Amino acid sequence: MRSGFPDFRLGTVLATSFTGTLSERHGNAVERIPTPQRLIDWLAVYGLAVDSCTPAQLELARELRESIHAAATAAALQDPIPAAAVQVINDRSAQGRGAAILTAEGGREWRLGSASRLEDALGVIAADAISVISGERDGKLALCASPTCQAAFFDTSRSRTRRWCDMNTCGNRQKKARFNANQRKDPSSAG
Ligand SMILES: [Zn+2]
Repeated sequence: MRSGFPDFRLGTVLATSFTGTLSERHGNAVERIPTPQRLIDWLAVYGLAVDSCTPAQLELARELRESIHAAATAAALQDPIPAAAVQVINDRSAQGRGAAILTAEGGREWRLGSASRLEDALGVIAADAISVISGERDGKLALCASPTCQAAFFDTSRSRTRRWCDMNTCGNRQKKARFNANQRKDPSSAG
């Protein structure tokens, strides 16, 4: 918490890492992009450096985040995707002008529009969400087994049996809870 704000939880999938900037949605929710600057910081981590972010743009980002969360959750449950969420994701995707760039080393970078607009970064995130939710990418959307989290995540494990959005937080907490419950049941096993 170098900046005094909650740390980021960094995953490998852009869209679901973005929805993870609000965690513990069903418990004591933690907002990990509480200020425009923190959104700028988060985007920079994912190679989407923007010049500026206004409070109104932060709201636009959060609207996209919650729309991706709603759509990904519905997809994981095989429910119909809410029309309002579809609309927001499509609007952000259509209004972004980011371009995928192949580097000389064979990697992929994002080049945002000339002014490095926040809307361009959101467009990249929206397009990533579409590729995940549409099932075009190899993996499966699932919901975190932690009752206070239930975050949608993209399971790319071979067996598709991942249970937690993040092993270091939700996974660990669940393991500890089970361990403590076992201790209570069987005091002789303590130590
Ligand atoms: Zn979780």
